[in-house]
Amino acid sequence: MNFDLTEEQKMIKELARKFADEEVAPGARENDLYARFPMDLPKKMAALGLLGGPIPEKYGGAGLDYICHAIITEEIGRACSSIRTFTSAQVSLVEISILKWGTEEQRLKYLPPLCKADIIGCFGLTEPNAGSDAGSLSTTAVFQKDAWVLNGTKTWISNGGIADIALVIARTGKEKHEGLTAFLVSKDAAGFSTKNIENKLGLRSSNTAELIFDNCKIPRDAILGGLGDGFKIAMSALDNGRFSVAAGCVGIGQACIDACIKYAKERIQFGKPIGNFQLVQDMIAKMVVDTEAARMLVYKAAYVKNKGLKSTLETSIAKYFASEMAMRAATDAVQIHGGYGYSNELPVERYFRDAKCATIYEGTSQIQKLIIGREVLGLKAFE
Ligand SMILES: Cc1cc2nc3c(=O)[nH]c(=O)nc-3n(C[C@H](O)[C@H](O)[C@H](O)COP(=O)(O)OP(=O)(O)OC[C@H]3O[C@@H](n4cnc5c(N)ncnc54)[C@H](O)[C@@H]3O)c2cc1C
Repeated sequence: MNFDLTEEQKMIKELARKFADEEVAPGARENDLYARFPMDLPKKMAALGLLGGPIPEKYGGAGLDYICHAIITEEIGRACSSIRTFTSAQVSLVEISILKWGTEEQRLKYLPPLCKADIIGCFGLTEPNAGSDAGSLSTTAVFQKDAWVLNGTKTWISNGGIADIALVIARTGKEKHEGLTAFLVSKDAAGFSTKNIENKLGLRSSNTAELIFDNCKIPRDAILGGLGDGFKIAMSALDNGRFSVAAGCVGIGQACIDACIKYAKERIQFGKPIGNFQLVQDMIAKMVVDTEAARMLVYKAAYVKNKGLKSTLETSIAKYFASEMAMRAATDAVQIHGGYGYSNELPVERYFRDAKCATIYEGTSQIQKLIIGREVLGLKAFE
């Protein structure tokens, strides 16, 4: 057991931290206020290798291990969860899925431009009537003559309105899980359109959209994996997406700690800085323990991923704990800042609104607990 970061991991932490502080954090408040995604950031991230962390260099990535991937994601999440959400969709949901399931031709076609941010990706699983029950989705893909024809609507898709390519799970057969197939759909495909979802509680500068398929024609070779592999691909994508959500939540926890330590030393009440009061220290101490525990769970999941082993249990444990932890930390961070914490002049209210989504997307906390239960009991509370 070694808790030291390697020289490479330390270097990546410094690089990602500097980038987050200098390029992400300064615009986060205004981007949130005006619900706008900073379209210049992906290229800047890509130039430093931050958008292709775990992708091999052969495909345009940085060839880093999963601890490095967690470190990058934590640092981006510390500055802005909307940008972290963009990153999670681009890298963890789309790039790693293409790496794992794509043909060599698909890898060479899509991974270099994704890593360079020449193109943006999104992952479309959720539908208006299929959320936690992903196997119940009803978007169809039918093979007609020489092309696949898609019909249906995906909703709540991160990056959906700015993506050039969508990894879409659609129904190709009647069986609940084996009847699903994954497709790579270009934004230029005839019959494909998107509609932005506005006025979210948090993650306001992350683009979220509906994907609408109206007799959308895509080529025969747009399939990712094999016919009927869609559910497996979706679950493996979520194993990676959840990992990055968990790492991003560690970033929220750290941001809350940093903000609270500073404020608790500056804010004077009853003639002394509020950090002197034991009840304030109690909130900060809990935040520190919670964040450190979540970071260790993320690193444990990274350790399993680095070995190339299935990490569903470790990832769900990390995602469940880290997202609930981020919500607790952000709630106490607002409390410590008192009335000022309730205003968007300070970032803690944004952390609070953003943290909530982490307990919902990529599988709610309830679903994470059911996955953990299934993995340890061998009994399925849901199919
Ligand atoms: C900002 C944002 C971005 C998103 N990005 C993406 C994306 O990029 N791609 C994508 O495909 N999806 C995305 N989603 C969708 C997200 O993954 C779903 O919202 C989530 O999986 C929950 O589905 P649902 O909203 O339909 O809730 P439901 O499944 O309807 O759940 C409602 C409630 O019931 C509970 N529940 C459901 N089933 C059970 C059960 N068996 N046992 C106990 N409780 C249960 C849930 O935990 C929840 O509390 C995003 C969502 C948001 C808000």
